[in-house]
Parts: sequence; structure tokens; C-alpha cells
Amino acid sequence: MLKNELDVRLKKAVTLKEKPDQDKLGFGQYFTDHMLTMKWSRAKGWHDAEIGPYADFQVDPAAMVFHYGQAIFEGLKAYRGADGAILMYRPKDNLKRLNRSAVRMCMPRIPVDKVMQAMKGLVYLERDWIPESEGAALYLRPTMVATEAALGLRPSEEYLFFIIMSPVGAYYAEGFNPTKIYVEDTYVRAVPGGVGEAKTAGNYAASVKALTEAQHKGFTQVLWLDALEHKYIEEVGTSNIFFVINDELITPPLGGTILAGITRDSVLQLARDWDVEVAERRITIDEVIAAAKDGSLSEAFGAGTAAVISPVGELCYKGETVSINEGKTGALSQKLFDAIQSLQRGLLPDPHNWRIRVA
Ligand SMILES: *Cc1c(COP(=O)(O)O)cnc(C)c1O
Repeated sequence: MLKNELDVRLKKAVTLKEKPDQDKLGFGQYFTDHMLTMKWSRAKGWHDAEIGPYADFQVDPAAMVFHYGQAIFEGLKAYRGADGAILMYRPKDNLKRLNRSAVRMCMPRIPVDKVMQAMKGLVYLERDWIPESEGAALYLRPTMVATEAALGLRPSEEYLFFIIMSPVGAYYAEGFNPTKIYVEDTYVRAVPGGVGEAKTAGNYAASVKALTEAQHKGFTQVLWLDALEHKYIEEVGTSNIFFVINDELITPPLGGTILAGITRDSVLQLARDWDVEVAERRITIDEVIAAAKDGSLSEAFGAGTAAVISPVGELCYKGETVSINEGKTGALSQKLFDAIQSLQRGLLPDPHNWRIRVA
């Protein structure tokens, strides 16, 4: 076999799991019957690609991921279209982003087109796991970890790539519920020159303390500020952030410390399609608070795969709380949410070719 040629073995599970109650899926609680795995070594490149039964891994305790944290992942969804079609939304963009994360973390890149084919095969095999109800989906988690058993800091010479899948419920089962957000002015998520734009496990480990402290204070998520001046807005939790000020849609630019969200990109494109004024520019927390007070800030929302659009109803900064749009979902937030969900489910024309049909 040629280096990097991907030849996927299929080993079907002997017994299938009982499917969970469709109304109580939650997020990431249940996993399907099969997963995709493949290995990489310096000598062989990618090899041993298999779609096989979902199962525990056997991994050496010295595997480098446990010690030095070379771990990257992606998150995307497969949907049941209104006509029964199996659809995915911009999946190639996720695999390309995984490769950008890989480069930053000194990990091998995956062959995008071949993994794309295998991923579609996996989704098709597990099609009975795709929930039917509106807003529900099959969540895919492509992941790569360093598996070489060796201590001493350097890039691992062996890796495991896998895709597991989980049926997830509608994020807003009872309609939008605008969130209360804590503006974090002490802890930081990412520094210039660091790994903030990579979807790498350590970024999330580093953010958990701020998240739990904010949740103890009654907030849903943390709004991150830049690490140097604690002044410029970066992201909200694990989503990109948007503000509508004087009818202009504003989001921080991709400067290396924030994740290049695919939902972020969709929001920007749709807004431009609709002739909404759009700015990717640095914006300070002081500007946002002032705009909330003088009434020019009409909407704020997070954008990411899990919730699509997550309206922000309240911001708390240095002990002061400001509400946004009286804590209600704004018109543009709602329009974006509806449009992206409809695009994902095949209910709207798709001029940007974001949707792919698996079957
Ligand atoms: C994954 C992620 C996002 C959102 O990206 P999408 O491609 O829209 O799902 C935003 N910020 C962070 C930190 C993330 O990890």
C-alpha cells in the first residue's frame, strides 16, 4: 500500500445497542455502534483504517498524549433532511481545519478526500442513529491523539485518528433561552503566538476553571478577553461572538487567538448575502458595555456547531450587569438561526454549496 493511501476495512458489530429515547438525547451521552479508526507511523504513514465496533482503546500509559497533550478534534453534524435524505453541512471545512490544527501541534495531516469518503460511509452505516426530530442531529467527533509510548518532549512518531458519533437532541427544545454571560477579566483562553486557533484539547482544559467559577455565580458561559490588555473581545465559551451595534454586525477578526468557526463563516456570508453591514474588527468590552447602555447594541449572540446561534441576554463585567434587547432574542439572531437550520436540513436553496448529500 502506498503511503497515505486509505483502504478502509469494514468489521461490523455483532450485537447492536438499544437506541436511546429520542426525546432524552441531551448532548454527547450516547454513542453509535461503530467508529472509524486509523493509525499513523513515520514508517507507514496512515494505515490500518477500519470502520469497526465502537469499543475501548488499548493504549500504553506512556502514550505521549497523556503527558504532553498532542490532541486535536473536530465537531460536526449529520442531519436527516425533510425528505429523508442524509445531509452533512460543510464537512470538508472541518477536515481541513483539523489539518490546520495538526500542523500547529506537529501532528500528521489526514488525507481529506479519503477521510471524507470514509466518514460518509460511517454515517451511512449508522443512518438509523440519526434522530428525525427538528433540531436533533448525529454529532461527529473526529479526533487525533499521540500514541507513541515514550517520555521526553518531542513530537510523537505514532498517532491514532478516530471518529465517534453521538445522537444529540435539539439544543433549544423549549425555544431560545438567551444566556447570561460572565465577562472574564482575570483568566485568559489564548495568547498571541499560542495555540488559540487550533482545536486542541489543552485549550479546553485551560478554560474549565473560568467556566466552572462563572457557572457557580449563575452564568452560562464566559466571554473571553484578549490576554495582553484584557480589553478586546475574543470568543464566548467555545463559540464565536457577534454583536449588532447601530445595525452593523460586528465580530472579532481571526488573529490567531480565536477559532475560525465554520458557523462564524456561515453567519458572515449570509449577512453579506442579505446586505447587512458586516465588520470583522477588534472591539473592546468598554465599547460593548457603552453601546448596551446607550441603546445602540441591539443584539449579541454566539455562533457554533452545537447550538448554531446562542443569543446573549445579559453581560456581567466587573460586577456591573447590562441586559441586551431586554433579554430577548433579536431579529437577526432568529433569522440566522432559522436560515442555517433550514439550510442544514435541505429546506432552503444552497447557493454556497455548503450542504452535501450522503444518501
Ligand atoms: C469549535 C469552536 C468554535 C465554533 O466552531 P464551529 O466550526 O462553528 O463549530 C468556536 N470557538 C471555539 C473555541 C471552538 O472550539
